[in-house]
Amino acid sequence: MTTQTIDFHNAECSACHKKHVDIRTEIVDPSPEHPNAIRKKIIFRCEDHLNCDVDEIEKLALVKKRFQDLDESDLVDGDDFLNHIVPDRVNFCSQLP
Ligand SMILES: [Zn+2]
Repeated sequence: MTTQTIDFHNAECSACHKKHVDIRTEIVDPSPEHPNAIRKKIIFRCEDHLNCDVDEIEKLALVKKRFQDLDESDLVDGDDFLNHIVPDRVNFCSQLP
């Protein structure tokens, strides 16, 4: 029926597992490998993350991906885990402690 690979009706927020309420195409910074390329990303936001900017969403998306890929051997306490994947202790969205 459709060739779309993204299910726009049921897609999760890019940063967490909630249902999105907003879809936007955002320009993201060029990657080091392709410094002259303009990259666009489709960002899904749930109501919790509506006010997050692209950088925050990308960091949260990285965290989400890491949690999805977790092995049992990766299970550590939350602080160690965040320090491990986000060495600079980024300020996440304001609703987090
Ligand atoms: Zn979200």
